Amino acid sequence: MQTIATVSEMQAFARDRRAEGKTIGLVPTMGALHEGHLDLVRIAAARADIVVVSIFVNPTQFAPSEDFSRYPRELEADLAKAASAGAHLVFAPAPEEIYPRGYSTFIAEEHVARPLEGVSRPTHFRGVTTVVAKLFLICQPTFAVFGQKDAQQVAVLRKMTTDLHLPVEIVVAPTRREPDGLALSSRNRYLSATQRGEALALSRALFKARDMVAAGERRSDRLIAEATHILRDQRRVRVIYVALVHRESMEPLREVIPGDSVLAIAAWVDEVRLIDNIVL
Ligand code: AMP
Repeated sequence: MQTIATVSEMQAFARDRRAEGKTIGLVPTMGALHEGHLDLVRIAAARADIVVVSIFVNPTQFAPSEDFSRYPRELEADLAKAASAGAHLVFAPAPEEIYPRGYSTFIAEEHVARPLEGVSRPTHFRGVTTVVAKLFLICQPTFAVFGQKDAQQVAVLRKMTTDLHLPVEIVVAPTRREPDGLALSSRNRYLSATQRGEALALSRALFKARDMVAAGERRSDRLIAEATHILRDQRRVRVIYVALVHRESMEPLREVIPGDSVLAIAAWVDEVRLIDNIVL
C-alpha cells in the first residue's frame, strides 16, 4: 500500500488512474481507525479498482472549544488497518498542505446543515463540506463512502454534491456497533467504564423507538418522549437533542415516514459528546 502526503502527488496519481479508465473509491476519515471505518474501506474495495483512504484531522470542522488538539492521531497503526481492509493508498496530508497560510475559501451548505448538530456546532459542517469538496478535487473519486453514524453529515454532503454538480456518487454504509449496541466512534476511547455503561442509553433509546415503530407507533412525540425518558434515566447523560427528522432534509417530522425517517440523538456523557441515530 502506498502513502501520499502532498496534494500535487495525489492529484497526479488520481489523474493517471482515471486516464487508465480505473474507478477510484474514496473513504474520508480523521484516522484512529476502527471497524466502522474499515467497513467503509471494505465496501469501497468491493466496487472500486483503486481504494483511497484519506486520513486528515480537519481543523476547520472543530470549534476552538472542541477536541482538535487531543483528537487521537496514530498514523502507523492506521496504515496497517487500512491496508488489511483493502486500501491501495492512504492520503495523509499535513494541515498546511490543505490549508496553506492565508487560505480563505470555504464551501458552506446553508439549509440541511442548520438544525441538530448545526445548532451546537454552527461552523462544523462548513469545515466538513470544505474539506470533502477539496478531497473530491484532489482524489477525483468515482464514489465516496460515508457512515450512516453521521446521518446529518451524509445529508449535507449529498446536498453539496447535488448543488455543486460534483461528479461523485455518495455511498452510505450502515452504522457498526459493539455487540452491546454502542456505536463505534473514535471518541469512545474518552469514556471511562462507568461512562461507557451510561452511554449505552443512546443505542437503547434508539432500539426502543425501532421496537415501537415495529409495533405500529408512528407519532414522533411518542418516540421522542420514550427515547428521552431512557436517556434521562442515566445520571451522567445530558440530552442535547432527540429529534425525528427526514433523512435528506433533516427537517422535523410529525410522523414516521418508513425508510425516510431518522431518529437522531446527541448527548453529553459527562464531558464526552456522543451522537447516534437510527433509520425508522
Ligand atoms: P471520522 O473519522 O469519525 O470522521 O469518520 C470517518 C467516516 O467513518 C465517516 O463517514 C463516519 O460516518 C464513518 N463512521 C464513523 N463511525 C462509524 C460507525 N460506527 N459505523 C459506520 N461508519 C462510521
